[in-house]
Amino acid sequence: DRRLAKRTETLTPSSTLAITAKAKQMKKEGIDVIGLGAGEPDYNTPDHIIEAAYASMKEGKTKYTPAGGLPELKDAIIRKMSGDHGLTYKPSEVLVGIGAKHVLYTLFQVILDPGDEVIIPIPYWVSYPEQVKLAGGVPVHVDGSVESGFKITAEQLKEAVSDKTKAFILNSPSNPSGMIYTEDELRDILEVCREADIWIISDEIYEKLIYGDAEHVSIATLSDDAKERTIVINGVSKSHSMTGWRIGYACGDGAVIKAMTDLASHSTSNPVTTSQYAAIEAYNGPWDAVETMRKDFGKRLDAVYPLLSDIPGFRVLKPQGAFYLLPDVSEAVRKTGFEDTDAFARALLEEAKVAVIPGSGFGAPGTIRLSYATELSQFKEAVRRIREFVEARW
Ligand code: PLP
Repeated sequence: DRRLAKRTETLTPSSTLAITAKAKQMKKEGIDVIGLGAGEPDYNTPDHIIEAAYASMKEGKTKYTPAGGLPELKDAIIRKMSGDHGLTYKPSEVLVGIGAKHVLYTLFQVILDPGDEVIIPIPYWVSYPEQVKLAGGVPVHVDGSVESGFKITAEQLKEAVSDKTKAFILNSPSNPSGMIYTEDELRDILEVCREADIWIISDEIYEKLIYGDAEHVSIATLSDDAKERTIVINGVSKSHSMTGWRIGYACGDGAVIKAMTDLASHSTSNPVTTSQYAAIEAYNGPWDAVETMRKDFGKRLDAVYPLLSDIPGFRVLKPQGAFYLLPDVSEAVRKTGFEDTDAFARALLEEAKVAVIPGSGFGAPGTIRLSYATELSQFKEAVRRIREFVEARW
């Protein structure tokens, strides 16, 4: 019997990576494509981080480290969690892994039994449901539509809870919507999770990319109970423009972290040693490059938001964080005669030469995601093309 395992049957490739790859291919063929699909900052990693990584290699720090991460990196993370949030963790409550994505994968493997449910708000980051399914779990979606500001309420969460619920995934600021939950909203959500006695997985990877007067509150800070039931996920990919270095981490319950570390010891071993030294410098060194990038993203958002909102049939909420815009384009899709948003996005790429991610991959099929981690003049040109494309068919 040479069949693939059953668990691969529902596995779909990441929609984000697929469109980005197609746009790159078109570019290679000499086609003038503007890619707004990217899920990463368009800056290089700050120089001092690259230098620290290089120096560590020259010093011979090129060997295995403990599977759960270097003690010095765990210390840097512990200091960051304490400085940013007033949260105290022991090294045994921190795991460093190969990007937040793989840390989440490992987490689901150690907390889910077959049939366990995980509540995931819509719109969601594409990998959550796939990773839950790969661990034998069942994703349960709760709809945060454009009308509710792409957020869910505590009441909705309560309705979704069953005796099989094991965890709730909170991603604030959100990919793809850029929305941030307020402290009051988080308190209500926490209360539901406390009553149901479930884990909270708080993916805070966009925490440093916040604009206007929005504030990021980590749900783990709200009470002792909140800290005990929350596994905070974070990393250096988005904050320090370090997506390729692959360093992410989890902070939380010691038994969960121990199980994750044991699993890592048999699956990945340590995250790349050089990248860990780079991450130590990212956290212990100067943070001004992070703030410069944030300010620049904020400026781009202010510049492009009105232009995008002005396209006929586009309904756009102004995001508060991350680097994505998620217009609801249902009306534009209808008026331009496309069957659905996927077809609309395909035509945008093929005819207008603009790559956007259709929201079907995020559970929000009426939307498209545009990343403004793109040079401003390019983004403006992309908006002009989209507008022309829509108006020509209206
Ligand atoms: N979580 C969210 C919401 C993301 O958007 C991403 C990256 O796109 C990740 C986690 C994973 O980040 P990384 O694996 O690069 O640390």
